[in-house]
Amino acid sequence: MLQMIYRDYGRTGKKVSLLGFGGMRFAHVDDHDECVRMMVKAARGGVNYFDTAPGYFETRSEIVCGKGFEELRRQKLPYYVATKTFKTTEADIRREIEGQLERLKAPAIDFYHIWCITSLENWAARKRDGILSAFQKLKDEGLVRHICVSSHLIGGEIETLLMEGVFEGVLFGYSAYNYRTREKAFNAIRAKRLGAVVMNPLGGGIVPQNPELFKFITREGESAVSAGLRFLWDHADISVTLVGFRGEADVDEALAAMDGYVPRTGAELAAVKEKGGEGFEGICTGCAYCDDCPQEIPIPRYMDSYNQKLLKENGDDELRQRLGMHWSITPQGAAKCIECGACEAACTQHIAIIERLKYIARLSA
Ligand code: SF4
Ligand code: SF4
Repeated sequence: MLQMIYRDYGRTGKKVSLLGFGGMRFAHVDDHDECVRMMVKAARGGVNYFDTAPGYFETRSEIVCGKGFEELRRQKLPYYVATKTFKTTEADIRREIEGQLERLKAPAIDFYHIWCITSLENWAARKRDGILSAFQKLKDEGLVRHICVSSHLIGGEIETLLMEGVFEGVLFGYSAYNYRTREKAFNAIRAKRLGAVVMNPLGGGIVPQNPELFKFITREGESAVSAGLRFLWDHADISVTLVGFRGEADVDEALAAMDGYVPRTGAELAAVKEKGGEGFEGICTGCAYCDDCPQEIPIPRYMDSYNQKLLKENGDDELRQRLGMHWSITPQGAAKCIECGACEAACTQHIAIIERLKYIARLSA
C-alpha cells in the first residue's frame, strides 16, 4: 500500500509531499486531458506540491496546470502552487503575476520563486532593481504566500546566497550525479530552516541511463528510477523531490518508488555518498575545488557540460545545450584559458580540464 511521506517546508508550517510534480517535461503539453489526468493521478497518490514556470512551454505549462488545479479542487484533492519569475522590477513582476494567477486559476501563489540565480553578481543586480521589496509587497497583499529562490549556484556560493536569510525556501538541482556540487547548500538550509526542493533528481536521464555508474546507490531489487529518487529521499533536509513527468507512466513509476521505501539511516547515507566518488572517474562531480581561475572561467560549469558529452549519445549537442540552456555560458568563453594549470592541480578527479576547454572552444567554430 502506497504511503506518501510528508515533510515540513522549512518554517512555513506547510507539510509538503516528498515527491513533487514538475511541470517542465509534459510530452504533450497541449493535450490538456492527458496532463490533467497526470496531475490527478499524482494527487491521488498523495503528491501535493506542483511546480511550474512561465518559461515552460512558453506559459503553456502554467495554463495546463491551472486546468489541473481546477480539477483537483473539484475532486477535493489538496495541492500547493509553485511557480517563478525572471522579472526584477516591481512593475514587471506585478504584470507577470497577474498573468500567472489567471493562468493558474489561483488566488495566490504558495511558493513564488525568484528564478534561476546564476551568479552572486546576478543576484546583486536583481536586488538593485528592488526585487526583494517587490516580493515582500506581494506577500503583504496576500498574492504570494512564501518567498523562495531557484538557483544554479554551486559550491559555497549557494550557501552564501541562502545565508542572507531572505528566503523561506530554495529550489536547486541535486541528484546522485551531481550531489557533491551543492552539498554546502544544506549547511544554510539547516541553519536558516529553509524548505528545500530539489529538481532534476535523475540528472536529466544520466542516472537511469548509466546503471553501472550508479550502482553505488542501488539496492537489491530497485529500478534505476527508484534508486535515484530514494537516494534523495534518504536526505532528511530535502522537503520535496521534483520529477518532471512526461506522461502517466512516469507518474506511476515515481509513485511506485514510494511503495515499500525504507529510508537509510544518516550513517548509511553518508557511507553511500562517500563511495560515490569512486565511480566517477573522468566525470566532473562539481566539487568546485578548481573554481579559482585567474581568467574567471566558470570551470565547474564547463566541466559539468562536458559530462554530457561523456555520458550521452550525440554528446556534442547535449554539451552545447547544457552550456546555453542550463548555465547561460558560451563555447567561446572556454577560449579565455591561458593554460596556467592551476585548475588541473586542484581537480579532485584529475580531469584534463585544459583539453576539455579547448574542445568546448572549438564547438563555437
Ligand atoms: S588552466 Fe585555464 S581554466 Fe585552468 S585556471 Fe588556468 S586559465 Fe583557468
Ligand atoms: S573539474 Fe575537477 S575540481 Fe573542478 S568541479 Fe569538476 S571534479 Fe571538481
